[in-house]
Amino acid sequence: MGFTSLGLSDHILKGIQAAGYTVPTPIQSRAIAPALEGRDIIGIAQTGTGKTAAFVLPMLHRLDMPQAAPPEALTRPGLGFKRHHHVRALVVTPTRELAQQVHDAVRKYGRFLRLKAISIYGGVGMEGQLKLLHRGVDIVIATPGRLLDHLTRGSIDLSRVEILVLDEADRMLDMGFINDVRKIVGAVPKERQAMMFSATMSDEIQKLAGTILREPHMVEAGERRNPVETITQHFYTITPHAKMDLLYHVLESEKMESVLVFSRTKHGADKVCRRLERNGVKAVAIHSNRTQSQRQRALEGFKQGHFRVLVATDIAARGLDIDGISHVINFDIPQYAEDYIHRIGRTGRAGATGDAITFVTREDFQHLKSIERFVGKKFPAQHYTGFKPPVRETEPVKHHVSNQRPQPAHRPAHAHGSNGSKTQRSPKPGKPDFKKRDDKRHPQSRKKKPLQFGRKRSSAKRLESFSSDRGGASWSNY
Ligand code: AMP
Repeated sequence: MGFTSLGLSDHILKGIQAAGYTVPTPIQSRAIAPALEGRDIIGIAQTGTGKTAAFVLPMLHRLDMPQAAPPEALTRPGLGFKRHHHVRALVVTPTRELAQQVHDAVRKYGRFLRLKAISIYGGVGMEGQLKLLHRGVDIVIATPGRLLDHLTRGSIDLSRVEILVLDEADRMLDMGFINDVRKIVGAVPKERQAMMFSATMSDEIQKLAGTILREPHMVEAGERRNPVETITQHFYTITPHAKMDLLYHVLESEKMESVLVFSRTKHGADKVCRRLERNGVKAVAIHSNRTQSQRQRALEGFKQGHFRVLVATDIAARGLDIDGISHVINFDIPQYAEDYIHRIGRTGRAGATGDAITFVTREDFQHLKSIERFVGKKFPAQHYTGFKPPVRETEPVKHHVSNQRPQPAHRPAHAHGSNGSKTQRSPKPGKPDFKKRDDKRHPQSRKKKPLQFGRKRSSAKRLESFSSDRGGASWSNY
């Protein structure tokens, strides 16, 4: 069944055709018709399922319906009817990248319409946004923080919003945006259509849905537990200190054109990127410490093939929609199985083939197990054929006695009771032997008490694991 039977206007069908889509995805087939009727929607769908079009298409259709001329247009002599732009639809997204992606989708599908859209997010100047808001827009796609800034300074009026969309609501909760979201919802009229999309259906999401949606129509794309079949998955065992060498080796020995590497932390992403560059691999990092223009330049450069490798953290990678990524490499295994599916779904998009490679250290096995449980499949982790971890010169002891906390990736194999070669197991002269040291000096023994910020269990749990790596205490470590 094509798009024509869904009840979308001809202008929108033209936009869909121009985008090259012929058949709606399951979430689109299920969501578009009830959304066109004006019903509230709760969509359980991850990125990669076509969920953006599932709400953007009916939103554009409804906004494009002929409007009654606004009273002020009729009272201004000589003007006749002039399309009046005010914020009629608001899409809230957790990240800047996702906001841009939704904005791109609005532009793409709505290219034959006369609706104006703007994306509003932090990390860029206010001026441009103020100017565009002043001129008048129909659709605002925004991240919560900057949107609240505009609301506070009175530069945006949400009192005439007809359609409210919360995209990736679970992420917004994870990132601690719940209060911001509530304030934003409080600023839009009670009489409006609301659509909420989330990858998971937790108790918190249900509670939020209960306060925002009215008799919602529930649509599910089916939880994407199984990665698309076109993605081949590999798991390679490695000791933490040899990860970087394995990364070069893999990049050298396999035909990899466009590679997305995932690091657990921003600091880690920068480090991997620097080391790749030092070894002549064109690489760029993207994470939340980068300014918006740096992030944009990095993405554009990667898309245009100026960089072979994009190193990203999970949060920054949220919403990345890049065609042609041939390989995803989990330099650090994701801590949540759900993130694994999300990460590897960056390759193999729209029917293309792709490879996902995950480095697994001895300490990572519990995470591998939870990925196996989630996907419902066993993944034997193997040694990467042909790779020999180099025998290293000793690292200066000062690294461990300084204030700087040693990064796990540098920890010597013997600290993990590695089953690697003999050379790896026995401490090198000059290298610290953690077994002999005071427990307090062992990196693993420096467990920080997680800060809870009064969050509910699931968010707090995430914060705990986020904080564990760098001793920080917020998701922004990503
Ligand atoms: P999303 O889940 O919204 O991030 O979409 C994932 C990818 O699927 C994007 O690259 C879209 O352009 C693409 N897409 C969305 N709907 C369709 C469709 N009906 N046919 C083909 N590709 C689609």
